[in-house]
Amino acid sequence: MTARDDDAIGENDAPAKAGAITWRDGDVPFSPHFGDVYYNPKDGLAETHYVFVDGNNLPTAWQGKDNFTIGETGFGTGLNFLAAWQCWAQDPDRSKRLHFVSVEKYPLSRDDMIRAHRSWPELADLSKQLGEVWPHETMLPGIHRFILADGAISLTLLIGDAIDCWSGYSAAIDCWFLDGFAPSRNPDMWQPSLFAALAAASNPAGATLATFTAARIARDGLESAGFEVSKRKGFAYKRDMITANLPARQPELADDEARYEIADDPWFHLPGASKTKAKTVAVIGGGMAGAACANALHQRDCKVVLFEQHRDLAQAASGNPIGMLEPYLTVDHAIMGRFYEAGYRFSHRMVKRLADQGKVEADFCGVLDLATSPRKRERLDGLIARLHDKPDLVRAMPRDEASNMLGIPVPMDGVFYPSAGWVHPPSFVRALTADIECQLATCISEIIDSPDGKRLRSNDGREFGPFDTVVIAGALETANLAQTSWLSDHLNPVRGQITYCPADALAETYVSANMRCVLSYKGYITPQRDGMHVIGATFGRDDAKTDLRESDHAFNIKQLSKILPALSEHLSGKTLDGRAAVRTTTADHLPLIGPAPDFDRYLSCYHDIDKGKKGARYIRAPYHKDVYICTGFGARGLIGAPLAAEILASEICAMPLPLEKSLMDAIHPARFVIRGLKRRQITT
Ligand code: SAM
Repeated sequence: MTARDDDAIGENDAPAKAGAITWRDGDVPFSPHFGDVYYNPKDGLAETHYVFVDGNNLPTAWQGKDNFTIGETGFGTGLNFLAAWQCWAQDPDRSKRLHFVSVEKYPLSRDDMIRAHRSWPELADLSKQLGEVWPHETMLPGIHRFILADGAISLTLLIGDAIDCWSGYSAAIDCWFLDGFAPSRNPDMWQPSLFAALAAASNPAGATLATFTAARIARDGLESAGFEVSKRKGFAYKRDMITANLPARQPELADDEARYEIADDPWFHLPGASKTKAKTVAVIGGGMAGAACANALHQRDCKVVLFEQHRDLAQAASGNPIGMLEPYLTVDHAIMGRFYEAGYRFSHRMVKRLADQGKVEADFCGVLDLATSPRKRERLDGLIARLHDKPDLVRAMPRDEASNMLGIPVPMDGVFYPSAGWVHPPSFVRALTADIECQLATCISEIIDSPDGKRLRSNDGREFGPFDTVVIAGALETANLAQTSWLSDHLNPVRGQITYCPADALAETYVSANMRCVLSYKGYITPQRDGMHVIGATFGRDDAKTDLRESDHAFNIKQLSKILPALSEHLSGKTLDGRAAVRTTTADHLPLIGPAPDFDRYLSCYHDIDKGKKGARYIRAPYHKDVYICTGFGARGLIGAPLAAEILASEICAMPLPLEKSLMDAIHPARFVIRGLKRRQITT
């Protein structure tokens, strides 16, 4: 049996689970389902170099560039990725950054992946680094973004079917590693729709492609999609393989003239970065969202200045002493669940890395979530049904086990999120902004277009800039700026008060000593930090006041009394301290992340979209050039803002996005304008 060889005779394995693997010749993974090996058993690494690296004219192709993006079908063991990384790392003339975007329908477990790399001691260090970020067991469907080599390498993994994933993802791939099991073994993947999706996701300035096979289906398919195909000698004994070249597409028309030919929704078409070199960026807002954006842009060599109206950062919701780092999982895995699942993964990795470096205070003690009502029980049962094979993410907890896990008896069953826990948000904001220039006590009231860029004016008349780009992460105050004032109808305040509970006040209840993880019910209580538990939180809709209220403390204690009555009795009547802050939410509970729509021009360009005309009849979305928005996370800033920052920084710096197109549209700030026009709630 040879690697991905169309002529090889299939083995008579019984039908096997599609993602299952067995091992051949020691450490060579084999897929019984496809009847094929993952790489050449004699020398997979040499084959990768020959077929994919040399076949795409690497390292020459990336030399002298700021960014270079490789796309792949079939991540498998990640051998191709490690080979590309190794080649890039050894090249003194390498691009500043390497981005690798790959798709995988049946992701391997970490242990299997690392075992498959064992044959190449020269890759051991890179394999270890990949293993450190790879989830233990769980790789959920959707997009996973991993940051490696101190930010110089990004790995974006699309988990799902190659055709679906590449069709639903906007990219500008410079070269393709067209891998995957042999066409004869995996005909479902080698389809015209795949080749068309690869062409659409290629860099408009041109792209190259290489594949191990010379099968007719690949040759014809690539040609039909616009690739110019050549044959060359295949690896080792193989007769042929294919390389291909996708010529540059027509230069783009100016925004105003351009009809949007591909997607149906020109109103969500992203503007594209105007300059790929390092930029100067002003970030307005010094909470979690602003800090995360400043950090993500700084990581990409932008020169960032962060503006905060208060005398210090993290003064609103991110000033709370404890924030829960808990996954937001949904039974139906619909849009909101998909966004926050991806967000949790991203935040968790980031907090873990910073906590390991001693920069962020956090405890991954787990969160126990109780089934406090029949509806909640149904939801938690649904989660377990969907994710029963992901015990590292969520597991069912019968009441006795739940009590043991918490260290205190609880009155009902629940679920446990083992990777979750709590974070001290101010330490997170500090870590994110450690290298950022901050202009404190500066309330920006105007963004002014000038010939050399954007200038900012503060409400006391000072002027700053010019900047290439401005990111507004100003929570409710985002709507105080002229460019984004229309958002005042779409950003809503939700007041939240937390109650502090000194551990020594609970000494005789043994709760402080025994509590091992965060307990979540309708509210939550955290294990002690610095001698204090935090009990939360109220949800005061349309209330933007931050005074401390006895009634809110009483509400928090009442919620607790249904779960730990002895504890709440102990607290009632005591004078309690706490903190109140305002979160910013939106009507659909998704954040606003993306370019700032030019509201008036949206109304004039799309005034008749309620009549169901085709998207191609309209011009591309009109924006306030180089102005971006990042807000509206509600109580989920910790699991939303870091991913949001990664999205915006990738958009601004023309790097691969960490989200699929359907989610990018769902968080686009213009969705409320478009919905309003379609439903005739906004009239022009
Ligand atoms: N590039 C890989 C490496 O470096 O180890 C080897 C790839 S292996 C030959 C083929 C991979 O494609 C397998 O991991 C398989 O699960 C994946 N695959 C096959 N069909 C797919 C599909 N339709 N969509 C996504 N992935 C697919």
